[in-house]
Amino acid sequence: MTARDTRQPHPVDAHGDPLTFAVSGLMAEPPGTVREYEISGVDVDAGEDLVLAEPVGGRMRLLRTNRGLVVDARLATAIAGECARCLRQLATPVQLWIDEEVLPTIDFASGLPVPPEEGADPEAPRLTDHHELELRPLVAAAISLAEPIAPLCQPDCPGLCPDCGERLEPGHSVHDQPLDPRLEALRGFRVDEDADSG
Ligand SMILES: [Zn+2]
Ligand SMILES: [Zn+2]
Repeated sequence: MTARDTRQPHPVDAHGDPLTFAVSGLMAEPPGTVREYEISGVDVDAGEDLVLAEPVGGRMRLLRTNRGLVVDARLATAIAGECARCLRQLATPVQLWIDEEVLPTIDFASGLPVPPEEGADPEAPRLTDHHELELRPLVAAAISLAEPIAPLCQPDCPGLCPDCGERLEPGHSVHDQPLDPRLEALRGFRVDEDADSG
C-alpha cells in the first residue's frame, strides 16, 4: 500500500473541472477563515436555449462559517442572442453574483454524515462527500436568471422595415406602396413622422 497524500495544494479538483473546488483545507480552518479564488475562461453550459458569447470569469471568496461555507462569487460573462427588433446577432454582458451558504454532507472532523437541517430546502447546494464545492450548477442557475428578456443591439435600434423586412438603416428608401396600417401597428417602435402640417 502506498501512502496517499491527502493534502490539496491546488484548489482545482482531480477531475479537472475548474468550477469544482476542493475545500477540505478550508473546512479544517476555524470559522471566519476566508479564501479567495480567481476564475477565468470557464465555459458553462447554462441550458439548451442559452449560449454564452464569452467564457465566465471573475473572483470567488469563501468564508468558513460554523456550519459550512458562504460562497460570494462575482462573475461576468456575455449571453449570445439576437436583437429583439432587428434580429442581429449580439452579445449581452451580464454580471453574476452568487451569495449562498453551502453546508457539508460529511462532517469534516468526525467523518459522519451531516443530516439536512430540519425544514431546509432539499435542493439547497451542499458540499460533496469529498469536501468539494461544485460551483458549476450555481453559475448555470445564475446565468439563466441573468438572461436578458428583450435585448437590443443598440438602445435606439430602428428595427425592421415592415414592407421589405430589411433593417431600417438611416436612409432606408421609402417604398412606393403605402404602408398597410395593420403592419404599421406591428412596428412596435415610434417612427419619426414629424407632421409637416402645422
Ligand atoms: Zn437591433
Ligand atoms: Zn423597406
